[in-house]
Amino acid sequence: MSTDKTRDTSGTQSVGPAVGPAVGPSVGLHDIDLSLGRGAARVHVLRGISLDVARGEAVGLVGPSGSGKSTLLMVMAGLERPDAGTIRIDGTDLGHLDEDALARFRGRRIGIVFQAFHLVPTMTALENVALPLELADRPEAHARARAELEAVGLGHRLHHYPAQLSGGEQQRVAIARAIAPDPAILVADEPTGNLDEATGRQIVELLFRLKRDRGATLVLVTHDAGLARLCDRTIRLRSGRIEAEDAPSPAAASA
Ligand code: ADP
Ligand code: MG
Repeated sequence: MSTDKTRDTSGTQSVGPAVGPAVGPSVGLHDIDLSLGRGAARVHVLRGISLDVARGEAVGLVGPSGSGKSTLLMVMAGLERPDAGTIRIDGTDLGHLDEDALARFRGRRIGIVFQAFHLVPTMTALENVALPLELADRPEAHARARAELEAVGLGHRLHHYPAQLSGGEQQRVAIARAIAPDPAILVADEPTGNLDEATGRQIVELLFRLKRDRGATLVLVTHDAGLARLCDRTIRLRSGRIEAEDAPSPAAASA
């Protein structure tokens, strides 16, 4: 169990800018509370979650089905607004952004990878990866998308449509799309959940290579003990609360 992340090593009295560059943790969640659904179906999904993720850190979110992992990831990604609490990504308080500003911020600063890939079926691999770059007004979107696809080993599949690609290839496209805008954080919800073991391992290697090479912060939901073991830290959720936090050692991780 590591606690050194909670210590302020800056030696300065930070006033905590509302919007800012590389100051403080990459992700800072404070007292997040969220209920979803209506009436009898209403569920208190997240109950007072506080969590800091350091720049370049890899955190695995684990816990039983229904414990709130996906919802917490969506909150971190700015796709779901909490009822209470604050979310800072790279110093920006997401609660201070209106819907348009939040969507822009997401497009530039947050990369999201889903279990079911979520590629646009009517677009080629190249067009899928270029899309967020175009939306973020990045120059040379297609050239950059091509380079990203080459980096994930898909230089020979640029003009294929998702239906013409294997699951592993589709997930590579999704990862290239997520990482292309150079996000501050990359979040992934069971990224290997739809893949066979060998393909899943390749995807995991790719995610961690990108984390290393780009210095991206990585937060992933996983049921895969091998994947959790690669993370710098695992956070275990139960019934919407953080139940335990571990820095896994090779011998200890058995979840
Ligand atoms: P996990 O990813 O850990 O399996 P989720 O975050 O998907 O868990 O869901 C946590 C709990 O919240 C579950 O009990 C689920 O049924 C409930 N939940 C999720 N989304 C909604 C929703 N839109 N309306 C009502 N309940 C929801
Ligand atoms: Mg889930």
